[in-house]
Amino acid sequence: MSEEAFVNKVIKGIGVSSGITTGKVYLLERGRVAIAKRRIREEYIEKEIQRFRHSTKSAVEELNDIKGAISDDGIRKHAFIIDAHMLILQDTLFLNDVIDTIRAERINAEWALDIVVSKFLAGFEKVEDAYLRERGQDIKYIYNRLIRIMVKGKESAIDANKGIKGKVIIVAHDLSPADTIQLNLNRISGFTTDVGGRTSHTSIVARALEIPAVVGVGNIASLVKNNDTLIVDGDDGIVIINPTKEVRKDYVAKQLRLKSQKREFLRIAKLKSETRDGFRLKVGANIELLAEMELVEQYGAGGIGLYRTEYLYLTRKTLPTENDHYHVYRKLAENSSLSYVTVRTLDIGGDKFVSHIEMPKEINPAMGLRAIRLCIKETGLFKAQLMGILRASAYGPLRILVPMVSGIGEVRTAKTILRECMDELKEKKIRFNEGIKIGVMIEVPSACMISDILAKEVDFFSIGTNDLIQYSLAIDRVNEYVSYLYEPLHPGVLRLIKQTVENAHANKIEVGLCGEMAGEPLYTPILLGLELDELSMNAYAIPRVKKIIRGLEQSYCKELLAEALTKDSAKEAEYMLRKEMGSLFPDDFIRCYEE
Ligand code: PEP
Ligand code: MG
Repeated sequence: MSEEAFVNKVIKGIGVSSGITTGKVYLLERGRVAIAKRRIREEYIEKEIQRFRHSTKSAVEELNDIKGAISDDGIRKHAFIIDAHMLILQDTLFLNDVIDTIRAERINAEWALDIVVSKFLAGFEKVEDAYLRERGQDIKYIYNRLIRIMVKGKESAIDANKGIKGKVIIVAHDLSPADTIQLNLNRISGFTTDVGGRTSHTSIVARALEIPAVVGVGNIASLVKNNDTLIVDGDDGIVIINPTKEVRKDYVAKQLRLKSQKREFLRIAKLKSETRDGFRLKVGANIELLAEMELVEQYGAGGIGLYRTEYLYLTRKTLPTENDHYHVYRKLAENSSLSYVTVRTLDIGGDKFVSHIEMPKEINPAMGLRAIRLCIKETGLFKAQLMGILRASAYGPLRILVPMVSGIGEVRTAKTILRECMDELKEKKIRFNEGIKIGVMIEVPSACMISDILAKEVDFFSIGTNDLIQYSLAIDRVNEYVSYLYEPLHPGVLRLIKQTVENAHANKIEVGLCGEMAGEPLYTPILLGLELDELSMNAYAIPRVKKIIRGLEQSYCKELLAEALTKDSAKEAEYMLRKEMGSLFPDDFIRCYEE
């Protein structure tokens, strides 16, 4: 750290937990402990092994103490991360690896541990998917704890009360889950770390506790010192070191605005999703992790419209078993605040990859062996998931959603495989909901065009506009060069959605929409005009969308839709919409003036 303090230095990171905070830096410097590398004489090998074993026991005890000292219910829910660390510390494969290395190389325990952990980490570095790669962090946390114990004896707990007056912003190179849990969260108004991503544990905990956090900031821990002033903007993923008075004033105003907005949002969250003229529709949440359930309740979702199960596959080294699936889905099913929980079957392929599923190298993966196509080919994979869903369906309102359907054949095959799973369960006398609803995602243009045929085969539709726009407008959804063409209001897209809704209703089945479009308030009147039965979105978006729903009349939305459908392009439709919404909700939309 240079002696000269920064002024107004803006650093971009990843905003992982929403909100803005301004406060003093509390730097968590957990300096690296240098390890001594020593050769061990034959007669002392067993003693060295005992020393290592002893350190793992102490580490487990420490973690147990940390867990036992948690008094906050919100934090206790996340203690499973600590459990995972304790399991690794008791894992015989891991322990034996270190012990074998001590024996074979005749070296001290720290050195052996360093060799073993480096080997593990090198393996993790090669993993393609970000979530799994990040799990290497868990090994690092355990390594640091063990080394600290072996080198220095008992670790002194991080105590955010010491030397701190008022609330602080924690700045660290990295925070282990145990670090996060040990902190007195009442005294912490924000987090920022050099490393980490959206799916790192600290980010998950910060989000669940609604503490603003920006991670992956590069070298923030070496740029600041204690008592520097910091702004952490978790919405824009920005950290500002020593902001000037003017900037602070702006941010205080933004923070106040967000705070009162949030109070208002949480109030709206509890209200019905109903238009002024009595049209009701369901508002659901899209989730990826069980940890998001609390937010889902808080932000007023009536159900889960889309549970993306890919993360179940990303969070482990091997494929999830039927039991793994069952336990997760059962937790979802048992949540009494949700009237429906839609579990989407594996949608891997395209831009989503899992390292332990063998996938062919494809020139055009978005149109390749993806989602249901892969599941039909790898029936073992599909059946494990379906069996898990079916077994969990005995405990709550689960529904099955099949992604990427392009024709009736895929639906019929999926249903045949589902029936086989049901027969197997019946034979084993295992309970499940025999009337479980099965739906398909409508995200390929051909599925919209044959939605009259598909509607006779399934119980519900869920329109996935993220992919529907990609496939109908022929634009790669992850290609920044064509992102300007990604237009939800494109007349082609609107017509496809309209056709799908009409065909669903003509066949008396429900149709929802779960792409990003559902959570964008500007599009709410169009989606209301289309008469969708459900909108499912990121939980944070729910109150904002509910507010718009409650402020509109559906009859007016139908007129707006009709007008949008007369426009030649998305731009014209959007202009019209912004103008209307700007005058109806001046606080929520920037008005578009006629030139
Ligand atoms: C979609 O395609 O709109 C969708 C919701 O699914 P995903 O984004 O997971 O492909
Ligand atoms: Mg999709």
